Amino acid sequence: MVSNIVILTGAGISAESGIDTFRDGGGLWEQHRVEDVATPEAFARDPDLVHRFYDMRREAIQAKLPNPAHGALARLDAVWNGRLLIVTQNVDDLHERAGARRVLHMHGEHLKAWCTACDVRSPWREPLIDRPPCPVCQSRSLRPDIVWFGEMPYRMGEIYAALREADLFVSIGTSGAVYPAAGLVRDARELGIETLELNLEPSQGSQWFHAARHGPASELVPAWVEEVLAGAGNSGP
Ligand code: NAD
Ligand code: ZN
Repeated sequence: MVSNIVILTGAGISAESGIDTFRDGGGLWEQHRVEDVATPEAFARDPDLVHRFYDMRREAIQAKLPNPAHGALARLDAVWNGRLLIVTQNVDDLHERAGARRVLHMHGEHLKAWCTACDVRSPWREPLIDRPPCPVCQSRSLRPDIVWFGEMPYRMGEIYAALREADLFVSIGTSGAVYPAAGLVRDARELGIETLELNLEPSQGSQWFHAARHGPASELVPAWVEEVLAGAGNSGP
């Protein structure tokens, strides 16, 4: 019987809501590699470029809607009596808008701005390109509250603590390319936890999972949630 679940989600769960994964479009944005925009070095070198990229994505996600995969996880969250943690690499708010509550954003959130002067993170929906003042200290030092490549993901201690309590680890819509998220399946295996991958195609870490199902998240996730709720979620592929 499964009682404690850790779920890791990536850009793939939001793909059917119309939010591009970084690999879509060949990994390029205005001729820049996305990895070259999403770094602290890029922000230091060319803050306008980085602000334009995130202003565009922040605006875009607000017009998108959760899909049945987000809905199914929200339903699981609402009724699951055991422990549950939805660790998301996504910086969109589609888990929350679907109604999920036990969500941890390990890579930050588009809808927050982080003031590097006073260190406060404020809810944010507007562009940052014109350097608006921080609502707390008025300094014009706001940056996207996004964990860039080379920065430390948020709340790893909480994630590992949840994993130690878990008996099922499920990875949904993530390529297995971005660490430390990509290493969580191996951490789970070392802890003796059952592991399941739900992804459009085999991820880079697919071989680490006990079981893997491949297809669109909007179909795989609702089907899996129904199985878990029926008490069959830990029974392999
Ligand atoms: P990723 O590394 O999480 O890879 C996306 C994975 O999703 C791929 O393996 C792909 O095969 C799979 N996928 C695509 N469509 C799918 C579908 N319909 N159903 C199931 N699986 C599907 O994501 P990335 O784009 O390589 O991004 C790397 C980093 O940037 C991560 O931190 C990621 O979460 C973040 N990012 C976040 C968002 C967002 O918040 N929505 C969007 C882009 C990138
Ligand atoms: Zn401030």
